[in-house]
Amino acid sequence: MIYLDNSATTPIAPEVLERMSVLRREVFGNASSIHRIGQRARAALDESREKLAMMIEAEPREIIFTSGGTESDNTAIKGYAFARHAESGRWPAIITARTEHHAVLAPIEMLATMGADVHYLQIESDGRVSCESLRSTLESLDGSVVPLVSIMHANNETGVVNPIADLALVAHESGAVMHSDTVQSFGKIPVSARALGIDMMSFSAHKIHGPRGIGALYLRKEIEIEPLMHGGVQERNRRGGTEPVELVVGFDVAARISITDLNANAERMADLRDRLRSGIIANVEGSRVITTDANSLPNILSVTFDDAIDLDGEALIVGMDLRDVAVSNGSACTSGSPQPSHVLLAMGLPAEQARAAVRFSISRYTTAFEIDSAVAALAEVLATMRRN
Ligand code: PLP
Repeated sequence: MIYLDNSATTPIAPEVLERMSVLRREVFGNASSIHRIGQRARAALDESREKLAMMIEAEPREIIFTSGGTESDNTAIKGYAFARHAESGRWPAIITARTEHHAVLAPIEMLATMGADVHYLQIESDGRVSCESLRSTLESLDGSVVPLVSIMHANNETGVVNPIADLALVAHESGAVMHSDTVQSFGKIPVSARALGIDMMSFSAHKIHGPRGIGALYLRKEIEIEPLMHGGVQERNRRGGTEPVELVVGFDVAARISITDLNANAERMADLRDRLRSGIIANVEGSRVITTDANSLPNILSVTFDDAIDLDGEALIVGMDLRDVAVSNGSACTSGSPQPSHVLLAMGLPAEQARAAVRFSISRYTTAFEIDSAVAALAEVLATMRRN
């Protein structure tokens, strides 16, 4: 099976699995226990927190471990809004874009039903959000509560990368707080809290060959949020619950591997993505590449077709699966739903082109042979669909 759905999730790296098995066997204590068995778990947890903080140029206390990207996004957005509401009795205005992941859009929609004023930025034709659009929206606000801007670093469906450092500058010029979902960019392109100047960032381990069920929220030390999980005082009172030490260590090992060879891996993946792009253009008639050449992640390519109106998007993915190639349409979190991708619709694509779009996502383990096989499979599937 050729696996080109790495933006949905990745196979766990052998080094990660190995380290986690040792931890699970030998460091089973509760990190809050006073005895030495507990303190070994605490030491492992602290060490991984320090290493992860260093990787993103943050302080260890600025890292909150969560169950993944969804929880990190929810904690940042709702936690920020609840805290400001508790202080002032008013909701902060929230600025976002319709190309965000549902883990960002859904909590914001929930806050809108509670009374928060929500603004959606205009999307450029390449899928990016512009600084001008953010600036004019911020200028139009008149509230006294510090607004929240939530714009993702890189998009999970198209791979398009937003000018996030510039957007953070614009947000800060008008005193707003900036959150960014860095779930897809971390481990593929440089992600640094200091360099990007962002106040809150969301991470997920299973997108970088780490374990499922663990992620992190970077929270700049000056910002206070209301926890979503009340209970114990873990994570400096910001997320109750016994810390899953072996998952945290697995996340740390996976992150370290991704960061160590970041540039070399990115170059390799970009070469494969370019090979995929030119292979599809040369061999698949009527193909239309959605992902732009510039300003995109090295590992994602999204493609649709001129005759999309006559193609069944689900059948396309099933056809690829029958030829042993795993790809997806739309984001994994919405697959199974017949709706066209909300991201592609927000970029202005017609519904039929959005529905027929195929996303290929490469990993550092992908080979040129696999790319060539995927191109051949796509050409065959489309030829069969067009004949019938
Ligand atoms: N944000 C983005 C951009 C994603 O791609 C995903 C996963 O598809 C998530 C958030 C959710 O992350 P998790 O699966 O760790 O909850």
